[in-house]
Amino acid sequence: MKTPCLICNATQWRSCYHGSIRMGSFGKKSPDDLNVWECGGCGSRYLPPVMADIEAYYKSGEYRDDLSQGNAVDEYFRLTDNDQPHKLELIGMHEMRGKIVADIGAGAGPFLDLVKGLAAKTIAVEPNQCYHDSLRQRGHEVYTWAQDVPSALAGKIDVAVSYSVLEHVESPLTFLQDIRKLLRPGGTLALSTPNADDWMVANSADYAAFFYRKVHLWYFTATALQRLAELAGFVTCDVTFDHRFDLSNAMVWMRDKRPTGNGKITFDPALNAIWRESLIRQGQSDYLYAILKAPA
Ligand SMILES: [Zn+2]
Repeated sequence: MKTPCLICNATQWRSCYHGSIRMGSFGKKSPDDLNVWECGGCGSRYLPPVMADIEAYYKSGEYRDDLSQGNAVDEYFRLTDNDQPHKLELIGMHEMRGKIVADIGAGAGPFLDLVKGLAAKTIAVEPNQCYHDSLRQRGHEVYTWAQDVPSALAGKIDVAVSYSVLEHVESPLTFLQDIRKLLRPGGTLALSTPNADDWMVANSADYAAFFYRKVHLWYFTATALQRLAELAGFVTCDVTFDHRFDLSNAMVWMRDKRPTGNGKITFDPALNAIWRESLIRQGQSDYLYAILKAPA
């Protein structure tokens, strides 16, 4: 590949994965083997888009259909409600009190529902039109893209969050720059994204074919994420690691080559704790969380 990196402009790439990728829920594989490219400049990994019209894909709800999860608000809550307190804990409840809070890639809005009672204003940026009426009914301001947020709000948002979105966008640099412009001086962005250094990606070819997927155009290590944040004009980017799966999930992947979630094989909870802590300590967990600060 010769095209300049959309993040750092470098033109040196190496293929870091060659094989089938996931096209939706488990089992939907690409008909062809594809390359994922690692940038020699910033270290991010790029999967050239296989979708013709990415904006339409997310606006229409086709994305959720590919995941076999549908576009019903109640189903979105059923799948994601219990993940939200962890996201609030990451930033701290007090950081939200009396503040203007925006969720970029809000989905049906479970995180904003959680902070609605203490924030001064809650803003949902969400391309999927299926969620817009419900988000408005629950008192959130709603926009399709970050660029649609009125200029009166630019530089006024205290806290933005963007969980599991960065990997979907065509240009992560433009995406983060747009969010930074919305933030007040010294404002905070909390984000999450899958960890490209995930131990499972490095050690299971079947898991790698599940990890790399049509909808994720970009993959980041902690170092690549920090480089991106710097290029987007943030002054700090503190990365923490989290691992959401137990030892059973890894062992069953190795044996059956399929996702089963946690608890399929019973292990001593202490062993599971060591498994998780070890991956986190070595930066080989499945997820990255980052707190970015805009210049004061
Ligand atoms: Zn790059």
